[in-house]
Amino acid sequence: MTFAPAPLFILSFRQRDELASLAAGAGWQVVAARRVGGAERRFLSSGASVAVIDARGAPEEGLAAAKLLGGAVEANGGAMIVLVSRGEGATIAALYDAGATHFLASPFSDAELLQALRFAARHAERMAREWQAGPAFAPLGWRYDLLTRGVVLTAGLAALLGTDEEPSVRALLRRYDPEDRAAALAALRRMSSARPATAFAHDLAGVGRVVQHLQFDPGEHRIDAVVEPLGSAPEPAAEMREALAGARDAGSARRWLTRRLSGAGEAPLCAMLIALNRFDMVNTAYGRTVGDALLRAAQKRVEDVVQEVLGRDALVARMSGSTFVVAGTAPRARIDLAAERIAGELARPFVTGESIAVLGCRIGLAEALADDSAASLLRRASEALAEARDSDSATMRVADSGGEGGHAQIDRLAVDLNHAMERGEIGILFQPQVSASSGAIVGVEALARWEHGVLGSIGAETLFAAAARADLEIGLSDHIQKLVLAQAAAWPAALAGLRLALNLTAADIARPGFADLFLDRVDASGFPRNRLTLEITESGLIEDLGIASTLLSVMRGAGCRIAIDDFGTGYSSLAYLKALPLDYLKIDKKLAQDITGSPRDRIVVRGVIDMARSLGLTVIAEGVETDAQLEALAKEGCQIYQGFLCSEAVSVPALTALLANAASTGPR
Ligand code: C2E
Ligand code: CA
Ligand code: CA
Repeated sequence: MTFAPAPLFILSFRQRDELASLAAGAGWQVVAARRVGGAERRFLSSGASVAVIDARGAPEEGLAAAKLLGGAVEANGGAMIVLVSRGEGATIAALYDAGATHFLASPFSDAELLQALRFAARHAERMAREWQAGPAFAPLGWRYDLLTRGVVLTAGLAALLGTDEEPSVRALLRRYDPEDRAAALAALRRMSSARPATAFAHDLAGVGRVVQHLQFDPGEHRIDAVVEPLGSAPEPAAEMREALAGARDAGSARRWLTRRLSGAGEAPLCAMLIALNRFDMVNTAYGRTVGDALLRAAQKRVEDVVQEVLGRDALVARMSGSTFVVAGTAPRARIDLAAERIAGELARPFVTGESIAVLGCRIGLAEALADDSAASLLRRASEALAEARDSDSATMRVADSGGEGGHAQIDRLAVDLNHAMERGEIGILFQPQVSASSGAIVGVEALARWEHGVLGSIGAETLFAAAARADLEIGLSDHIQKLVLAQAAAWPAALAGLRLALNLTAADIARPGFADLFLDRVDASGFPRNRLTLEITESGLIEDLGIASTLLSVMRGAGCRIAIDDFGTGYSSLAYLKALPLDYLKIDKKLAQDITGSPRDRIVVRGVIDMARSLGLTVIAEGVETDAQLEALAKEGCQIYQGFLCSEAVSVPALTALLANAASTGPR
């Protein structure tokens, strides 16, 4: 191994100078520190891929330092070697959790320390090479237990095959064509204690030709299989596998970035690192299970915003601990918008069991430069993040600009919104509502979109956030209601049987005289009142239950039906269900998707459906994306569903085509 002088970061509370001179003597370019404060930034700016933390005699401070540096080391694919005193080994597990990659226990000789440094450097090099080269294989595989005869698939393979993770063996074998099935069975028969490893090849839909490496473990009575795509799998397939495997960890993120950086043209690539505030405190106070659930909830919020603002093509990954990375090629304005929305979403409280945790986040953002590597891009984003952390006021920092991020994008949108309505940039799409039993489309929900001249299509959440900023909520609501009613009144005959659901905002409900104004508007449009459903969220009702209740009674008396929207998010109150005149209960997509989650999650969904039905309400599940979700929800008594499984929100012509299609193919 050639050994050019490489930077090395050393943090030692007591022996900084001795360690520094030892390493310098061995050819390292040393940056040394004696205090934890600011260590993250100093490590990042040192350019080192190896950090040494000398925790001898100071286990607590050492652990604090490891936690502080863990994210940065991981984000930069480096190594962290911790020097510990023998007898202080109890902290090792915690150090490992914090991101340490190597240990050296005292007493040790100078030579041993230098060797440990070289090992750590080699580890960092290997990591760097791995990100460049891409994964040897995405985690596709399975394990068969000879005693229980059960098979368990990795999440990646299950997603690829569209089955759950513990399918029946017979159902799996049925998926092979006869020739491949014979090869699979022959391979299984070939294996024995004397011959514990074998392989066979076959076609796998979505991936192409793959080889399965089987390993028989007689002691454990099981067979492990790793599924490896043959030849040089094309990039899109690799990306798809990773996405499906949910394997969006730091390594996967780096490979994604490397691929994108090598792609020419397009808009510039931006990466942001998002660190949750106060996560450590919550984790300590409530324990790991709650902490993990919270991280998943936070990741989901980030994913939802990214999907809406940057599209499905963008990257969301967990880096380490409580840091996420988001990246995408989009105009800077759109990236800033995503960052603002993410900051807003993570500032909302998280409900964890009995408690409510308020976290918030800091964001560091960097834009790719010519000849950037994934490592250098992430390093700049980490530097920006460290700056944001050091600042009391700024949630977001942008690398290389010195400027603070803020709400500039949403403010700009707020200014644009006035013109948007005049210019007809606000459009309406309709999402089908489907009978869970017959598969027939029985209605639609109107959802607004903004076709922004510069930024392209903008989702409803952002649209309403801009309206709130501009104090244009009522104006926007009026505008949308008129559009929806006008469009629906002009629907082609094929859509004449559908109900139309329209969202009302809290501002609408609080408006004096709204009921009359709205009903006049409906009548003027010509759309029949009795095919109209008004969707109202709890936050819309919370202001004044008395006013809301009167309004809903008037609407209902006039022939409209009422749905309570987003049920199961935030602070759902059962009091409303009894107090208000309602027809439908819409289970929020986050809750609805829990139906295929843990048994505990399922109990909650089941309870909500039961309760709603006992009150005589029709249950609509939102955000149904998979057959498994639909099946489980229908089994629990949910009558109508809405979600990508059937269709996203679409234009009137597309909706007409959907209906024609459903009519010709019969119920699904
Ligand atoms: P919502 O009323 O809960 O609408 C459902 C949202 O979930 C829609 O997002 C829809 O596109 C999305 N969605 C539908 N199926 C799926 C699925 O299978 N998976 C996932 N992940 N998402 C799904 P959208 O259109 O962005 O609307 C967001 C929210 O903005 C709406 O939530 C509603 O509260 C509000 N909104 C949208 N359009 C209007 C409108 O015209 N007027 C008013 N007042 N509010 C609107
Ligand atoms: Ca709704
Ligand atoms: Ca909803």
